[in-house]
Amino acid sequence: MRKAIINQKQCVSCGACVKVCPRDAIEIYKGMYAKVDLDKCVGCSLCKKACPASVIEMEDVK
Ligand code: SF4
Ligand code: SF4
Repeated sequence: MRKAIINQKQCVSCGACVKVCPRDAIEIYKGMYAKVDLDKCVGCSLCKKACPASVIEMEDVK
């Protein structure tokens, strides 16, 4: 299943992905970067579309 993978080194912690995620699967970890709970992610890709820094990709995760 495809899930959201974030390039955390380039994340600017804007929180846009957190707001759009319908599953509440993303948090800003210690105020530094966005972190996805892959158990909650359903692969909708809304976060990828919302990210202004284009640091989210959808990848196959087992
Ligand atoms: S792909 Fe969808 S469910 Fe998964 S983290 Fe992004 S917005 Fe949330
Ligand atoms: S939308 Fe992009 S830049 Fe903003 S917190 Fe999420 S991953 Fe980081």
